[in-house]
Amino acid sequence: MAATILIVEDEPAVARGIQYALQQEGYQVTVAPSGEIGLEAATTQAPDLVLLDVRLPGIDGFEVLRRMRAAGAKSPVLMLTARDDEVDKVIGLELGADDYLTKPFGLRELLSRVKALLRRAYGDLADAAGGRVIRHGDLVIDLDRRRVQRGDRRISLTPTEFEILRHLASRPGRVYTRAELLDLLRDYEALDQDEKTINVHVSHLRDKLEDDPSRPVFVQTIRGVGYAFAER
Ligand code: CA
Repeated sequence: MAATILIVEDEPAVARGIQYALQQEGYQVTVAPSGEIGLEAATTQAPDLVLLDVRLPGIDGFEVLRRMRAAGAKSPVLMLTARDDEVDKVIGLELGADDYLTKPFGLRELLSRVKALLRRAYGDLADAAGGRVIRHGDLVIDLDRRRVQRGDRRISLTPTEFEILRHLASRPGRVYTRAELLDLLRDYEALDQDEKTINVHVSHLRDKLEDDPSRPVFVQTIRGVGYAFAER
């Protein structure tokens, strides 16, 4: 799955140019034409990267960034500043931007910054674009290498935990019953017949994966049914 990039930019011609260039590189790109729409998209879709214009009508780029971070949205942000304005850069970085680019910029420069930021945020796995990689926020699951990371932190899972995560994350929003998961895992490992076994593995998985295992963001409990991986 290609990395997802959100462009928050009110000038259609600029947005289209950036979008096209990024799509040519294989990224999955969405455009938000205002700060309000951008904020909504950044907090609900958890894109892998946000390109955020500073000068926007309504709430400006700084305010979008401030509210994003306040809402817990952790996507790396590349600020697009209108001119070579030192103040803009300082404010942006203080608010939690990861990098900035001064307009007008060349598309080649933009692409190299985007690549560098993705690599910095997601480690080597960012290079596996187009490979079998599942991303959700800063969580990256490399199916081929059976590796899981959050940001640059490597998460070590048992084979059973990895298999549960792999099945759930491959189809976000799809609810799996415990019996179903047990069936899927049985091919992989000789598991206890008891469906409660699944609860134990999911609990361990959450301990390793979630910031607060009692309020899981990734692996969600669907009461009375089973588990589902969070949709973007
Ligand atoms: Ca603008």
